[in-house]
Parts: sequence; structure tokens; C-alpha cells
Amino acid sequence: MHEFLKRTLSLLFSILLLALMMAWFGSVELGLITVIAGLASWLAVNLYHLALLLRWLQSPTLERMPDGFGAWHAVFMTLYRNRRSQHHSQKKLTNVLERFINAGEAMPDGVVVLDENDRIEWVNPMAEPHLGLDRKRDVGNQILNLVRQPAFHAYMQQESFSQPLVLHFAQPRELVISLQLVPFDSTRKLLLSRDITQLERVQTVLKDFVANVSHELRTPLTVVGGFLETLGDMPKVDEATFRQFLPMMLEQSRRMQTLVEDLLTLSRLENSAKVEIVERVDMQLMLDSLRVEAEGLSQGHHEIVLNNCSHAVLWGATRELHSAFSNLVSNAVRYTPPAGRITLAWQEHDNELHFSVSDSGIGIPREHIPRLTERFYRVDRGRSRSSGGTGLGLAIVKHVLVRHQARLEISSEPDKGSTFVVIFARDRHGDR
Ligand code: ADP
Repeated sequence: MHEFLKRTLSLLFSILLLALMMAWFGSVELGLITVIAGLASWLAVNLYHLALLLRWLQSPTLERMPDGFGAWHAVFMTLYRNRRSQHHSQKKLTNVLERFINAGEAMPDGVVVLDENDRIEWVNPMAEPHLGLDRKRDVGNQILNLVRQPAFHAYMQQESFSQPLVLHFAQPRELVISLQLVPFDSTRKLLLSRDITQLERVQTVLKDFVANVSHELRTPLTVVGGFLETLGDMPKVDEATFRQFLPMMLEQSRRMQTLVEDLLTLSRLENSAKVEIVERVDMQLMLDSLRVEAEGLSQGHHEIVLNNCSHAVLWGATRELHSAFSNLVSNAVRYTPPAGRITLAWQEHDNELHFSVSDSGIGIPREHIPRLTERFYRVDRGRSRSSGGTGLGLAIVKHVLVRHQARLEISSEPDKGSTFVVIFARDRHGDR
């Protein structure tokens, strides 16, 4: 039997017993008075507790729970226990919800929760820049009114969302976003967004690179193929004809070889880790060897000057640095008409060391200078090719310098000449 009922019945029974005793030992009137007084007090106590209960129900906190008397004590204790377990599960639920929201906010991807009418219910911080939303302003608004691209509207009308949608934004900055809609809870939807701008850029660079390499290889291959076909079509190839074709075929095959070598150098540089400062580079030896190279390329057509002022020690990877410097020297020779002057210098400036190659050659118009270190970028394609250029020389230079924490400064004036300066910071020189 319930505690409340048990206590109530035993109290009523006690009143009745007391009334009977009064009637037995006193009089019937005394018995009746005892019954009435007992029931009236019982009613008053119940009304009082009922009032306590009503007051507590208006603001049911654990701290303000009344104590209660008699059977009411059991009622209040039961209420107290229920309220406490309810309070615990509510706290647990709040914690879970808080953790879920924190996780959503920390996500590197954008998340937007949409209701059945595509109105925004919740937005995480990453989704704001992806879709141009404002969390405070846009909650409750229709997503279609905020993201107005037709492709997005068409995507939202679809039946299936297995494929992501890629959106391109030009303002406020160039942005490529991949969007995926995930329906849940039968009517709601999750809109997930990811910034793929960098990925798209890499893919474009890769596509351009493959197109450039194919283009570079196609011309020499076509030339060699053409010669071989012509020779094949001849019933009898005399030695004079063969000797006439041979140098041209050799030149084209050398061109392909140089290109492949430059590509391999670039890929090696890109794939290997940062250069540790391990080797003491003998710059005197390096400059002498560069001068010999320049003279070999120039074949006496240019004046090659060595301006070797510094005896500072440089730390780095000798082979890589030689490849970079040699590209600069080769460019100076190739882009300087005969009788021009080429100066190689190794100098100390404050805390920096400068290796520079200056020429009195054709120079470079100002607008091309920022793009010179891009792969296959050339000012004059024909001139570069005819002088044996692959369009990869300065890209190799840039990579080597990045690995040595050095920088390249280019100054040039058309028809006057150019200067390429490689600048090494303080921690690349000094005795160790
Ligand atoms: P390339 O094999 O075509 O020389 P590079 O990457 O070495 O490729 O150079 C990129 C472009 O920069 C060249 O095609 C040329 O137009 C320009 N360039 C580089 N060095 C010089 C220079 N010393 N004088 C004039 N133009 C230069």
C-alpha cells in the first residue's frame, strides 16, 4: 500500500479510536466532539500542505522543496527525488548538447542546419565565410534568399544529393566551395561546405603543367618524327642527305633531353625536404667554375667579369646552389647579344650575402618580372627556344633559393640589361 494512504488511514483510525474511548469513558457527545475536532485538524493540516505544494509547484526548485509533516512528508520526498533525477538528466542532456555544439563550431568545414522550409536553424563559424552568412542575422531566414547563385537553387531542387555542388565566388575574394546537402530527421537538412580553392588551384597548375610539358615535347618530337619519315620514304638514303638531317635531329633530341633533365631537377627539389645547413660552400671555386661555364657558352662573344669581393663563408647544398647560379649565368649569356658584358659578383651587404649576375642584354619589360619564376613562363617564347631554353630555369632557381631561405631580386630595363641578385640571410654565412 502507498505510504501516504497507510499514514492517512492510521491517523483516521487513531481519531476514531480516541473518539470511541471518549464516548466509552465520558459521554457520546464527548466522543462526537473528538471526531469532529480530529477531522477538522486533519483537514486543516492537509489544506496547509496543499497550499505548500501549490506554492512550490509555481517555482519547483530543489532548494525550496517544503519538508512536510506526516503523510505529506512522503509526498514531498517522492517529489524531491523525481525533481532531482529530472534535474540530473536535464544537466546531462545540456552537457551533451553543449559538447555537440562545441564540436560543430570547431569543425574545419561549414555546417548549416536547415528546417523543412529550408530556413536556417543553426550555422557554425566556418559556414559564414563559405556562404557569406551572418550567424546572428541570418538564423530563421531562407537559405535560398541568402545564397543566390542559380546553380545552388537548382541543386536544392534536386531529389538526390549524392554529388557535391561546386560554387565559385569572386567577391569578396576568390573562393571555390564544395557543397553537400545531407537530409536527416525526415524533414531537416544539413548543408556541409568545404573550401577547395587551394585544391582547385593545384589542379589547374597541374593541368597547365601537363599541357606545357606536352607542348614542349611535341615540337621536337614532330621534327625528329618528320625527318625519320622523310628518310624512311626515300628509296635510298645517301650519306650527304643523312648528314644534312643529322645535326637537326641531334639538336631536337638534345632539347628534349634538357627539358627532361630540368623537369627531373624540379621534381627532385619539390619532393625533397628542406636543406639543412651542412656544407661549407667554396664560393671561390664556385665563381671560377661559373666563369668557365659562361665562357664556354659565350664562345668568346661576351666579356665575362668576376667581381669577387667577399671572403664570407656560405653554408648550403653546393650542387643545388651551383645549379641555380648556373641557370642565371646561362640566361645572362643567352639573352645578351654579342659584345655584351656579363658580371658575376659575390659581395657582403650589412648582414646579407649577395650573389649577382648582371648583363647588358635585351632586358625584361617591367610587367613580366613578377612572373618570371613561374614554370614555363617566358617573355619571348621563340627567343627562349632558339637559344635552348626550357622555360624552367628560373623556376629551378626559385626552388633552390626557397630551400636555402634566400630570395631573388630582379631589376631590368629593356635594351639596357638585367641584374639578378640572390640574397642570403645572416644564418647562411659565418664561420662554424
Ligand atoms: P628560359 O629557359 O626560357 O630561359 P627561364 O626560366 O630561365 O627560362 O627564364 C624565364 C624567362 O625570363 C626567359 O624566357 C626570358 O624571357 C626571361 N629572362 C631570364 N633571364 C633573362 C635575362 N638575363 N635577360 C633577359 N631576359 C631574361
